Amino acid sequence: MNTVYLDNAATTRVAPEVLEAMLPFFRDQFGNPSSFHSFGSSRMEAIEKARGQVARLLGAKTEEIYFTSGGTESDNQALRGAVKIDSARRGIVTSAVEHPAVLETAKALKEDGCTLGIAGVNRNGELDLESLKELVNQQTAIVSIMAANNETGVIMPLAEAAEIAHEAGALFHTDAVQMVGKSPIDVHALNIDILSLSAHKLHGPKGVGAIYIKKGIKLPPILTGGYQEKGVRSGTYNAPGIVGLGKAAELALTHLKDTVVRERILRETLEKRVVESCPGSFVVAAGAKLRLPGTVTVIFKGIESEAVLTLLDMQGIYASSGSACSTGSENPSHVLYAMGVNYIQANSALRFSLSRYTTEEEIDRTVGTLSTIVERLRRISPYTE
Ligand code: PLP
Repeated sequence: MNTVYLDNAATTRVAPEVLEAMLPFFRDQFGNPSSFHSFGSSRMEAIEKARGQVARLLGAKTEEIYFTSGGTESDNQALRGAVKIDSARRGIVTSAVEHPAVLETAKALKEDGCTLGIAGVNRNGELDLESLKELVNQQTAIVSIMAANNETGVIMPLAEAAEIAHEAGALFHTDAVQMVGKSPIDVHALNIDILSLSAHKLHGPKGVGAIYIKKGIKLPPILTGGYQEKGVRSGTYNAPGIVGLGKAAELALTHLKDTVVRERILRETLEKRVVESCPGSFVVAAGAKLRLPGTVTVIFKGIESEAVLTLLDMQGIYASSGSACSTGSENPSHVLYAMGVNYIQANSALRFSLSRYTTEEEIDRTVGTLSTIVERLRRISPYTE
């Protein structure tokens, strides 16, 4: 059975070119890049090449990129590092719709004595800039606002949020894990101080990512050790992973313009046809000003998303539930909740996330299968307005 993978916000397939680029670093070029001998140290060239590839995708300088183990680590370093810089600034301000990598880290830091302010979003999942402004003050160390939401695809007003942070003398961090490689982002144009990204969301390998730290900012490390990455992130270089991330970034940049257009057309087709063919369904954040080209959450009123997911899975179509994005979580999505979606509707949410490999035929098949499934489930659980 041909499968249809529409869960690219969770993770993406490794691009064949990425795998090819990585393989020599598993096979024979296995030396430690930090070694004195040339068999190891010559790997450093590949690391530096990857740093340049990532920097270009972000509009950053090469020396502003540091490799990490992924988005979670980069987010942790941004927050945990920022509150250590100045003992008079121990405040964190973030939004209610952040990924747990930010929200749970911020909550943990609150337990350690930091202050925490959480800005709300409107019904379209867009950041409430007024509420952000009220929370930021002279004690704020860092304002952390995600670039694009992993459930709704809503793109946040980063330049405006950065300005609010900077007016109070705070750092501005963005978790751009869902944005990088899917939609253009320029760290200097948007005045971003720190940015997190993850390779596995842009057709790179899992377990590797990067943190962009604007030149001049001294962000304390969370991992101390062998002083790799100029001490910003110690630990033996994951050379194959870093090379894979570099190649993935290069490919993302090459395909970016086309991907944005193609994914948007496919996603809009999916949305339109699902809403037409499945009574009682609607697109979450449909009224948002800016959304990622390829991510959408749809609510199927009166139907449990897990039932739809299971039946789709049986047909080889893989999507995800908007309500339990974290492993083992049975709580409805904190993102939908923050947007004012009620508990029952949040349990009826399904996320479809596309990639540059998604085809029109896959969208056709998904819509056809979905409407049959929803019709079947409606017979058991009729939708009433
Ligand atoms: N931030 C966002 C917005 C994400 O969607 C994810 C992954 O789902 C992460 C952070 C965590 O990234 P990683 O899986 O690389 O730790």
